[in-house]
Amino acid sequence: MDNQRVRQLLASSPGDARVATRGWVRTHRDTKDIVFIELNDGSCLKNLQIIIDKAGPAGGDQLKRLATGAAVTVEGKLVESPGKNQAVELHADRLTVVGDCPADYPLQKKRHSFEYLREIAHLRPRTNAFGAIARVRNNMSTSIHRFFQDRGFLWIHTPIITGIDAEGAGEMFQVTTMPLDKLAGLQPTTIDYSRDFFGKPAYLAVTGQLQAEVYACALDRAYTFGPTFRAENSNTVRHLAEFWMIEPELAFCDLEANMDLAEDFVRTVISDVLNDCPEDMQLFDQRIQKGLIESLQAVARSPFKRISYTEAIAQLKDSGIEFTYPPEWGAALQTEHEKCLTEQIHNCPVIVYDYPAECKAFYMKQNPDGKTVRAMDVLVPRLGEIIGGSQREDNLEKLESRMQAAGLNPDDYWWYLDLRRYGSVPHSGFGLGFERLIQYVTGMQNIRDVIPFPRTVKHADF
Ligand code: ATP
Ligand code: MG
Ligand code: MG
Ligand code: MG
Repeated sequence: MDNQRVRQLLASSPGDARVATRGWVRTHRDTKDIVFIELNDGSCLKNLQIIIDKAGPAGGDQLKRLATGAAVTVEGKLVESPGKNQAVELHADRLTVVGDCPADYPLQKKRHSFEYLREIAHLRPRTNAFGAIARVRNNMSTSIHRFFQDRGFLWIHTPIITGIDAEGAGEMFQVTTMPLDKLAGLQPTTIDYSRDFFGKPAYLAVTGQLQAEVYACALDRAYTFGPTFRAENSNTVRHLAEFWMIEPELAFCDLEANMDLAEDFVRTVISDVLNDCPEDMQLFDQRIQKGLIESLQAVARSPFKRISYTEAIAQLKDSGIEFTYPPEWGAALQTEHEKCLTEQIHNCPVIVYDYPAECKAFYMKQNPDGKTVRAMDVLVPRLGEIIGGSQREDNLEKLESRMQAAGLNPDDYWWYLDLRRYGSVPHSGFGLGFERLIQYVTGMQNIRDVIPFPRTVKHADF
């Protein structure tokens, strides 16, 4: 008999046909004649209630081995459930404990703190919250690919090892090679850097943008969706050392169309997850942030506010709020400013555009005013920035001079400059931190809890 997932069974009608399923025991309760098991297999938030008659064929030895966390298979019939929580329950006449679970199993309690669970990241997907996060993350990944595929974008796999420092920022991990004797537990005889292998220092990519531009400038629309790496030393709830980025890039596209795309993208992914994962979203609404679903529904429905950086600074100054860093034209917006704009001043996501050139990367297109660039950030309540994007500089000479001003050597970017030398075209794109969007959608406080295996300072176990 085929095993069915719990999700399928909970949606089935009671009947005489025999069914089989499997999973892990969440809880079990012993009464005089009957044993109740709450069975979960990760296919949905809900457990399937299993009823076993102690005097029946499934009673006996196996019942003694039942424990929270044990892996079991069961067979029997689906019966209408007298309980309110589910329509059906399984009356089992066959039970096999496939894997015992001793009493030192760390997930005995009903709820554990997220801090505690972070230390046992290999067991936390067995809890309701982390099962829900995994399903929501999966749903959002699928929705993101569908969004771009429906609009004719090609998914490009950009390299993880790179020889360039795309942002001109010093937060990269350098790649080194490991001599085999070190792997065998011996001391390395020589220190062997990537220079020896690649002929130059190599790094883990902080972004795939520049390579995505290569493909957009040939095939019109491309996007990347892959891991990126930043040696973030600050211990914040919004930064990881390894995170996933979605980076679309479009030829024949200006900043306005880029902002339209970013907004459409965020709203579509949010409305998909609300439609596809109602039970999981309910858990976040009840346990993590009250009113979450309603606020996301409003975001999915209404246009984002758009203001220029200059307007943003004026609004922050007029707000009368005392900031740790008072807003000043020319400086990057701090998280406190971004939160103020989205929570207090506008109470919705805000796109800020036309930032001063000095606080943005070299590849952003200059405005005719000579002071600002065609940059845009999408800011959301609770988090601040989730997207950074821009129209790219498509003029060869201007790009070269911006590089020099940023202290970069244009010779290192000869291939990138070729995109402007041969058939240059106005083009734009943005980068969205996937974990930031998941944080926003789930209401989770700490970014370490929305990625399966978080990498941060001092944390790179298994
Ligand atoms: P922040 O100001 O939050 O440090 P950033 O301006 O340095 O972000 P960008 O280079 O613009 O980041 O990257 C694009 C997007 O990638 C950001 O909007 C954010 O969503 C995400 N992001 C950046 N750094 C991290 C990180 N360390 N961990 C998780 N997501 C990140
Ligand atoms: Mg940063
Ligand atoms: Mg920023
Ligand atoms: Mg940014």
